[in-house]
Amino acid sequence: MKLRESSLDKLDQRVFDVLVIGGGINGAVSAAALSAQGAKVALIDKADFAGFTSQESSNLVWGGIKYLETFEFRLVRKLCLSRNRLLTAYPASVREIRFFTTLARSFRWPRLMLWLGTWFYWLIGNCFTRTPRLLSPADIGREEPVVRTDESQGGVEYSDAYLVDNDARFVFNFVRSAINHGAIVANYVESLAAERDGGGSWRCTARDTTTGRTLTIRARALINACGPYVDANNAKNAIQTQHKHVFSRGIHLLVDRLTPSRRVLTFFADDGRLFFVIPLGPKSCIGTTDTRDEQLPPHVRPEDRQFVLDNINKRLNLPRPLSERDILAERCGVRPLVVAKSATGKQSGDWTALSRKHEIEVDRGRAHISVFGGKLTDCLNVGDEIAAIVAELGIALPFAGYRWYGEPAPEVRTDFFHQARLMDLDALTSPESSEPLSTRLWRRYAESALRLLEDIRADPTMAEVLIHGTEYIRGELYHAARREMITKLDDFLRRRSKIALIARTEAIREAPGLFEACRILFGEQAAQKFEEYFGSRPSRELISSSLRPPVPLTDEVPP
Ligand SMILES: Cc1cc2nc3c(=O)[nH]c(=O)nc-3n(C[C@H](O)[C@H](O)[C@H](O)COP(=O)(O)OP(=O)(O)OC[C@H]3O[C@@H](n4cnc5c(N)ncnc54)[C@H](O)[C@@H]3O)c2cc1C
Repeated sequence: MKLRESSLDKLDQRVFDVLVIGGGINGAVSAAALSAQGAKVALIDKADFAGFTSQESSNLVWGGIKYLETFEFRLVRKLCLSRNRLLTAYPASVREIRFFTTLARSFRWPRLMLWLGTWFYWLIGNCFTRTPRLLSPADIGREEPVVRTDESQGGVEYSDAYLVDNDARFVFNFVRSAINHGAIVANYVESLAAERDGGGSWRCTARDTTTGRTLTIRARALINACGPYVDANNAKNAIQTQHKHVFSRGIHLLVDRLTPSRRVLTFFADDGRLFFVIPLGPKSCIGTTDTRDEQLPPHVRPEDRQFVLDNINKRLNLPRPLSERDILAERCGVRPLVVAKSATGKQSGDWTALSRKHEIEVDRGRAHISVFGGKLTDCLNVGDEIAAIVAELGIALPFAGYRWYGEPAPEVRTDFFHQARLMDLDALTSPESSEPLSTRLWRRYAESALRLLEDIRADPTMAEVLIHGTEYIRGELYHAARREMITKLDDFLRRRSKIALIARTEAIREAPGLFEACRILFGEQAAQKFEEYFGSRPSRELISSSLRPPVPLTDEVPP
């Protein structure tokens, strides 16, 4: 029986200490923190883990230099310290990156003022990163010839951090860590309603959205980590709160790489807000926008696309302006911004000035926790705060204080890279890859990457790139099928990997090896899952090009 099916049965049979509803970053860290400290945890998401807001961010781990302008010094310091903590705990997946900022002559501040601001930012962040630098227009032209300098007064360069893979992969690794620590976890399970039973526990009626099966999940405490859906879920469960969300829509466009350097090109867009070109694997990600929205799920509107294209074309020297034809993929999400329910007028209306802080509201009498707002950057604080609140609710954490996050100990890393060197693994790196194979496998799978090395030693074809045009090797597909709860093809293409962000859908569809990947992931359901994603059946040629029979899997079963 596969990991997910087995988890569904356990969700229906057991009584948990805590049920976490929502598997975005806030739900994932809650589950990871609680399960590692000994609580019996269940985690469900109505779609895939990180399938909503947490797959649509700018992938930045940052203190939010822009909030200095609104004098939110405490928030900036807190976020800078969270960034530093993530940089220390995840040296492979969270890395320092330079923000190469160009200022127009007409910008509201002179560059010297901004330069002083970046030094203040550096100090407020405990001087943890490389120091800022003042840039003249000539420096910008020399170091980033793609940036237009004719209207520029120069600029500044300073440091923050980014997620080297992508946000959704980062979130999934917390979900995986929760599973490793005994949490029972399932994607595509929607909470329909929850109520307290006579014995003082929660009974949540949930539905497996892939089959329609109804489940009853029982838990002593309930955490609502539904992101933009927090208010809707609280209303269903008759939970009153003092806070609520308002939404700000942000989009990003993925295009072929605009600069060979691995820096974030930073500008101020026509609306005065920060605007970025961010490296994402071998491509560039441009954004973002900040527009009030009330609809869920949000959609990219033509004016959003035009705003991003106009702003980037004005600021870069490109052989020809970027147009819609250059867009490989789009990202669109809403920032769930927390406001007091009593807020009126300016506070609930002027969303660009609203704080990006998080707020955790607890109904102690009913053992219910709602997580509002927040950022990926703040995730370790959310995990710690949730664990403290759950303990206060009287749920024992027998291993309280256990370090629930971070990459494995340095000895495990040393052994992995030693084994990889002995096998000459990096000689097998795909020409499409921007980094050695060993570096990528370690960052994505941490200690589980050792198992991949074993698989490759047993069968060297496991190191072959499977889906042509991408860097993913056959062994990773087997790993994903076994351990990453891939329920739909989109889960793999968009979230566990970033294939759907860096290649056009038509190219992915026709890529040799894609159908073999579907067979590894879904066995006899391969054609059905292919059709669910692409909207039509795979061609005969595609099917016959994947004649290699999948190696039988040893399924993982939760404890
Ligand atoms: C454009 C944009 C750029 C951003 N950039 C950054 C950045 O660079 N750095 C940064 O730190 N932060 C950034 N953020 C903020 C960050 O992405 C969000 O704050 C964070 O992802 C919110 O996570 P969450 O877990 O609260 O919500 P979500 O990720 O939305 O997770 C909520 C989950 O709950 C599930 N759910 C809802 N209802 C139910 C139900 N009834 N039953 C079961 N499951 C349910 C949903 O399917 C969803 O997966 C950005 C946000 C946006 C929109």
